[in-house]
Amino acid sequence: MAVIKLYNTLSRDLDAFIPIQEGVVHMYNCGPTVYHYAHIGNLRAYVFADLLRKTLEYNKYKVKQIVNITDVGHLVSDEDEGEDKMEKGSAREGKTAQEIAEFYTASFYSDLAKLNVEKAFKYTKATEHIQEQIALIQRLEEKGFTYQTSDGLYFDTAKYPDYGKLARLDISGLQEGARVETNEEKINRTDFALWKFSKPEEKRQQEWPSPWGTGFPGWHIECSAMAMKYLGETFDIHTGGIDHIPVHHTNEIAQAECATGKKFVNYWLHSGFVNIEGGKMAKSADNFVRMATLEERGISPLAYRYWLLTAHYRKTINFTWEAVEGAQTALKKLHEAFNLYGDNHGIPNADYLLKFETFINDDLESAGAIALLWDLTKDDSVSNEGKKASILEFEKVLGLGFGWSKEKLAEFGLKFETVVKESDIPEDLQKLIDERKTARAEKNWKRSDEIRDLISEAGYKITDSSEGTSISKI
Ligand code: AMP
Ligand code: ZN
Repeated sequence: MAVIKLYNTLSRDLDAFIPIQEGVVHMYNCGPTVYHYAHIGNLRAYVFADLLRKTLEYNKYKVKQIVNITDVGHLVSDEDEGEDKMEKGSAREGKTAQEIAEFYTASFYSDLAKLNVEKAFKYTKATEHIQEQIALIQRLEEKGFTYQTSDGLYFDTAKYPDYGKLARLDISGLQEGARVETNEEKINRTDFALWKFSKPEEKRQQEWPSPWGTGFPGWHIECSAMAMKYLGETFDIHTGGIDHIPVHHTNEIAQAECATGKKFVNYWLHSGFVNIEGGKMAKSADNFVRMATLEERGISPLAYRYWLLTAHYRKTINFTWEAVEGAQTALKKLHEAFNLYGDNHGIPNADYLLKFETFINDDLESAGAIALLWDLTKDDSVSNEGKKASILEFEKVLGLGFGWSKEKLAEFGLKFETVVKESDIPEDLQKLIDERKTARAEKNWKRSDEIRDLISEAGYKITDSSEGTSISKI
C-alpha cells in the first residue's frame, strides 16, 4: 500500500498513516449541533471528512466512519455556561427541542447528499446514547477524576497530567483564573461539566435521571462515549473544525484517556474555517450562507465542493460570490471537456495516476489534484480514452460528478446549455423566434417577454448578444 501522510494536530507533523487493524480505518467526525441550518462553513468540515474517507478508500482501505449528531448539551458558550442551543432553537421557532433536532438533522443529511458526500456507516445521536455517557462518567468517578458542584458534575483537569496536550495548552497555574469564571465553584479554569443538573426552578425539555441527579450530559462526553462504543477505546482518526482543538477535543481526550488508561486516538485532523468578507461565519450572525442560499443564486453544491477542493483543507478560506461563480464556470468547463472524450473506455494514464496519488496521499492535496486535472485536459499526448479513464479514477476521490448523466448533474444544480444549430431549430420554435424579433423591433417588450417564456417552456433558452440571437437547449 502506498504511504498516506496526514497532518496530525497531536504531533504537529505530517505522519505516515498506519491503521491499528490492517486494511481497516476507524474514523470519527465531530458532527453538527442541530439547532439551526448548517452554514457552508460547517459543511466544509464534512466535505473534508468525505475527501479523507475517499482518499483512504482509493488506497483500498475499508473505512468505518461515525458522525455524531449533537441534539442536546451544547451550550451557547461552547463551554459550560449559557442556554442549551437546542432550547434556544426551540424558543426561536416555537417547536419542541425534538422537533427542532429532527428538522435540522434532516436538513443536514440533505445538504450532505447535495454535496455528494458519501453516507457514513452510522450517524449517532447524543440523545440516543445517554446510558453510555452516564456509564463513562461513572468510570471517571470511580477513578477519582470528578467532583460535584451545585450545578453539575465536573472533570478535574488538574488530575490528568497530560491535559491540554493536543492544543499544547500551557496549564501551569491551572487553578488561576478559576475565580474569574462565572462558575466560582470550579476548581480549575479548564475543568468542564460531565453532567449538568436541571435547574430546580425550570423544567427542561431534555432531561434524564442519573446517579447524580436529573439533568443532561455535557457536550464533550457524547463524543468520547459514542466514539468508543462504535470504534473501540483506541481508534485511528478523529476530525473536526480547527475551533475544536483547545476545548472540545482536548476534553474528549481527557475523558477517554482517564477512563481507559489508553491512548484515545492516533491521528487528529482539523479543517480550517470559511470566512466571509474576512470575518467569521457564524450561525448567530447575519452573514449566514447556507446551501439554499447558494442554490437560490444559481450555484450548484458541486461547484461549492469544487471551490472547497481548490484550497488545502487546513487553510482558512474567504467566501465571495465571485469565487464560487468562478468555481462553477471552471467546473462546467471541465465537464464540457470530459463530455467530448466520447463513450469509449480506455485505460487510465499511468503518469497522471501516479501524480494524482502523490497529491492526495500528501495530506490530501486536493488543490494540486485539481490543477493536475486541468493539465490532463490540455495534454495532447494523452488520448481521449486515456483522459476519460483517468478522470473517472480522479472522480473516486474528488466526487465532482464526472461520468454522471446530464440529468443527474442537473439534479445537483449543474446545468449545461447546448447551443442549437440554426438548421436544427424546429419549425414552430423558429416561428416564435421570428415573432419575437418583430415584437422587439416594434419595442413591444411585453409580447417579447411572453414569447421568451413560451420558448423556455418548450425547453430552450434564447440569448441576445452583440453577435445576434442564439438558442440553446436547457
Ligand atoms: P457545530 O454545528 O457548530 O457544532 O459545528 C459543526 C462543524 O463546523 C464543526 O466541526 C466546527 O468546527 C465547524 N465550523 C464551525 N464554523 C465554521 C466555519 N466558519 N468554517 C469552517 N468550519 C466551521
Ligand atoms: Zn465532538
